Amino acid sequence: MNTDVTKFDDKIYQIDVHMEGKPQRMSCYYIDTSDPILIEVGPSNSFPYLISALESLGIQDIKRTAITHLHLDHVGGIGHLNEKYKENFVYVHELGLKHLPNPERLWKAVSDVYTEEWLKKNWGEIKPISLENIKSLNDGADLKLDSNRTLKALYSPGHAKHHYTFYDEHSGTLFMGDTLGLIYPHGDFVQPNLPPPDFNKETLFQTLDSFENLEINQLAIAHFGVHKKPHQLISEAKESIDNWIMFINNIEHLSDDEASAELVQWLTKNYESLDIDNETIKNYIGNGNFVMQINGIRNYLSKN
Ligand SMILES: [Zn+2]
Repeated sequence: MNTDVTKFDDKIYQIDVHMEGKPQRMSCYYIDTSDPILIEVGPSNSFPYLISALESLGIQDIKRTAITHLHLDHVGGIGHLNEKYKENFVYVHELGLKHLPNPERLWKAVSDVYTEEWLKKNWGEIKPISLENIKSLNDGADLKLDSNRTLKALYSPGHAKHHYTFYDEHSGTLFMGDTLGLIYPHGDFVQPNLPPPDFNKETLFQTLDSFENLEINQLAIAHFGVHKKPHQLISEAKESIDNWIMFINNIEHLSDDEASAELVQWLTKNYESLDIDNETIKNYIGNGNFVMQINGIRNYLSKN
């Protein structure tokens, strides 16, 4: 087991895939039951980290992968994975049937936000996979893990309309993708992640509220890692999202760039007033794309 792997349940491993070459930015998960499954692959450039972590666990073959949503930091490396493990089936929202065999639109959607040059350098080029290797998910679908354990797929729109979360009742783990937001090292608080074109507050809150009935011991999020006190984190996330929307609504006269600068300044001040140390603040602020957050919130506000 290499240092990028953390075991947090008798059968579940968290894998740090060093997104953008940095530790603790993107986690994938591997459930090592009799019918094992990988959750998320990360971007293309993270693929060598993913493989070396899996091999350090003695895993020589991947047969099933579940993807929370079609953003390239989660699914970008899938073509590399399927090139290596030809029988791998990918469980994903039905839009994956259209986009994963022809990923040009996914690529364009992200390169319009980040630029193509940035995307190639930081997340890497993507490869298509064949239609036969894709299985579309339904809300409530049970993926068998062993004879008395399943992973339930829960349709979870709000961050993206093609988002699923995965619930392992046995360990009380909810694999959240990006539904909660971001929690970076040394912080135990959530920073919202509300990108265009799909972010919708009411939809996202409905999704988050639907988790209240589940028995959850821990949230396994993509950016980054496993966190206890799930219900507290969910209610804090909702409060932060409300605050962000209010703040951005109040600066509607500013350009996106100006509003982004204001948001960063306001957030930094908030974090400082909570006595959060400078390194943690730097991590949260430095790793955020705040113009994208402004775009996501403004796009939502324009429709309401
Ligand atoms: Zn993400």
